[in-house]
Amino acid sequence: MSHVMNTYARQPVAFVRGQGVWLYDEAGRQYLDALAGIAVNTLGHNHPRLVKALQAQVASIIHTSNLFQVPLQEQAADRLAQITGLDEVFFCNSGLEANEAAIKVARKYGHDRGVNEPAIIVMEKSFHGRSLATLSAGGSRKVQAGFEPLVQGFVRVPLNDLDAVRQVAAHNKNVVAVFIEPIQGEGGINVARLDYLRGLKEICDQNQWLFMSDEVQCGLGRTGKWFVYQHAGFLPDVVPLAKGLAGGVPVGACVIGNRARGVFKPGNHGSTFGGNPLAMCGVVTTLDTMKDEGLLENALKVGDAIRGGLQAALGSLPGVVEVRGMGMMIGVELDRPCGELVKMGLDAGLVFNVTADNVIRLLPALVMSEVEGRQVVERLVPLVKAFLGQSAAAPRAAAAR
Ligand code: PLP
Repeated sequence: MSHVMNTYARQPVAFVRGQGVWLYDEAGRQYLDALAGIAVNTLGHNHPRLVKALQAQVASIIHTSNLFQVPLQEQAADRLAQITGLDEVFFCNSGLEANEAAIKVARKYGHDRGVNEPAIIVMEKSFHGRSLATLSAGGSRKVQAGFEPLVQGFVRVPLNDLDAVRQVAAHNKNVVAVFIEPIQGEGGINVARLDYLRGLKEICDQNQWLFMSDEVQCGLGRTGKWFVYQHAGFLPDVVPLAKGLAGGVPVGACVIGNRARGVFKPGNHGSTFGGNPLAMCGVVTTLDTMKDEGLLENALKVGDAIRGGLQAALGSLPGVVEVRGMGMMIGVELDRPCGELVKMGLDAGLVFNVTADNVIRLLPALVMSEVEGRQVVERLVPLVKAFLGQSAAAPRAAAAR
């Protein structure tokens, strides 16, 4: 019997080694990794610059405490301020913690302005984590079920529907912020339209609300710019980050500026591990390497080539609803649940996952080459065709979501 708590439906494969976008299991079998640890291994596996920097850091100092100065935290925060265009960074250890900080910032912002029951507008189908506050903010009943009572103070609207937000603005004077993943990851690679994001920002400005862009999964270069809001051409107030920020070393960051600047004072928030020298070395090295190797441009080029290849091969196939995404964040929606495809992929030497039951999700490392991107398409297309050929289409009503 395994003593690891039974909280994951794990595949029967253990990867013990990685090199670039390739993984190797215990038997030495090779797999093409189109998932990158769910958008974590930004630089692929075993990147020499990251390995060398982390090894040196471990040999120097791993952890001190936020009771003392942490010079590497200053360096990491400077870099994040520069690429986000914002001012202050709180370091933590995961995406949900970055989002908890964001939710606390929004509530504190409300209280500072005399709103005693601050509310935050959140989106249907969103995912912000599995702590009580973040699962309450998220739009998945499956994630929430069994953990009620939920945390109060969230008002839910459909994605890409400005009128719904205007309605809330007209009737709810407690709203202090909008919290959105500009590309929903767990929800099925649902892309917010850029004109919608701009409209949302306008409503935030009119009402003095915070615009909080959860870029834990979609941010950090994956779409060809550092952050998705940069495609829309404005600055949000709060940007939670994690996943790919340190290339695999656990880290989270809540970056704030504009209207949110100065909201947190000493004593308002904290973390024992957050921002320790090992994690900060991971952040600084990952961000510097991304810049030096032109990985944002690469993500856009290779990601678009993968999406284009999948669109050409699968786009008009019965059973394929849509191929969508931006850069290295790609979804292929089928008209039926397709979880079995993950195991079929492993058998064919391809690592990806399925989210929202019927969306194949690809989140490759930003170092993936064009040749490797073509191999992803060449491996995935026959799998999807075989799967659609052997499985029944969902009844129309169930397929319509
Ligand atoms: N926010 C988004 C957009 C995510 O995709 C995730 C994880 O998938 C989280 C938050 C939670 O991150 P973590 O699992 O590191 O707590």
